[in-house]
Amino acid sequence: MALAYTVVVHVIGIMGPGLPVLALRPWTVAFGHTVTQLVLGKAPAGRSALECPWLRAHTWIGTCSTFAAARFALLAPFTEWSFGQGPLLGATRMNQRASDRVHLITGGFPPGSTAGHDMEYARSRLLEMLDDAGPISTTVSDDFSDIEDFLPDCKLLVTYVAGPYPDAARCEVIEEWLRNGGRWLALHGTTGGKAARVPDSPRRKMVKLDHHKTLGSFFLNHPPLRQFSVAVADHPLTEGVQGPFDVMDELYLIELQDPDLQVLLTTVLEKDPSPDGFGFAYDEDTSLQADGKTRVLGYVRSVGEGSVIYYSLGHCHSVTTNVQPFVDESVDVAGTTPKVFRGAWETEAFEQLLQNAIAWSTAT
Ligand SMILES: [Zn+2]
Repeated sequence: MALAYTVVVHVIGIMGPGLPVLALRPWTVAFGHTVTQLVLGKAPAGRSALECPWLRAHTWIGTCSTFAAARFALLAPFTEWSFGQGPLLGATRMNQRASDRVHLITGGFPPGSTAGHDMEYARSRLLEMLDDAGPISTTVSDDFSDIEDFLPDCKLLVTYVAGPYPDAARCEVIEEWLRNGGRWLALHGTTGGKAARVPDSPRRKMVKLDHHKTLGSFFLNHPPLRQFSVAVADHPLTEGVQGPFDVMDELYLIELQDPDLQVLLTTVLEKDPSPDGFGFAYDEDTSLQADGKTRVLGYVRSVGEGSVIYYSLGHCHSVTTNVQPFVDESVDVAGTTPKVFRGAWETEAFEQLLQNAIAWSTAT
């Protein structure tokens, strides 16, 4: 797409003041097609074609996305300029490089459910960030059931799920893709998956499965929504993130599965403050680090040529998707669960972490 807009820049370069505006408009549209269209126009008296807002807009969006371009175009002052849409000269399937595509999975289990999260909000925020990240296209799924169709020419996999997980065969597909250079940005509930009933108890316990090994961690439980401080390690993925930062979120207790991963985010919590019977049962608090107080909330791990980046932050719910019975007093003194909760999503730190991860993972 950048090359296409370079052509437009050249056309501007050879046009002089007072000449009609004539430009070829190669542009990228949805579904991965490049459309080339002839655009004819005429500048108002006394104005140079170089001042043309339409061409300026298209020069500007050479480094931006089609979505941003559409927004810009709506605002551009077209009234003085007359343009005719010329004939379509051709529409061809883009020969898109593998590094240009991202696959996003957002959803709950069973399929179509929200599983206690505002999936639409998380999905739209992630799509917005991916869109702002530059000329990358994104495919979207609700779960991992078709992952093998999407991964082969995909650069980055982003997941925000509450329930769905890849089975053993699909974990092999993901691991091979990672070994060959794929990057997986896994968020929040991705370290969960399946819970099993504890015998003779109303409680459930998470089941450790193949995807936890692929990811590098296994979710045990989280106490009620609370405020906590997050320490940030020095790494290209955390560049520009001011740490420590405070956040309201679900503080995930995760058991690390890879001794060699690089820890990026931590918090201090000596004991799981969950009231009796809250959340998932577990035999032993294996999320506690050797110092007896540190919990890992984010990391990056290498898998062959590729990497997994995981951030446990990111809980969000709306009025219709909330299932939290109460919250810690650090969120609400009365313990009342906020009707709408977006926690980390509304912090600069989390936004920067996600932007960094997308940029780092899609860089060629
Ligand atoms: Zn959550």
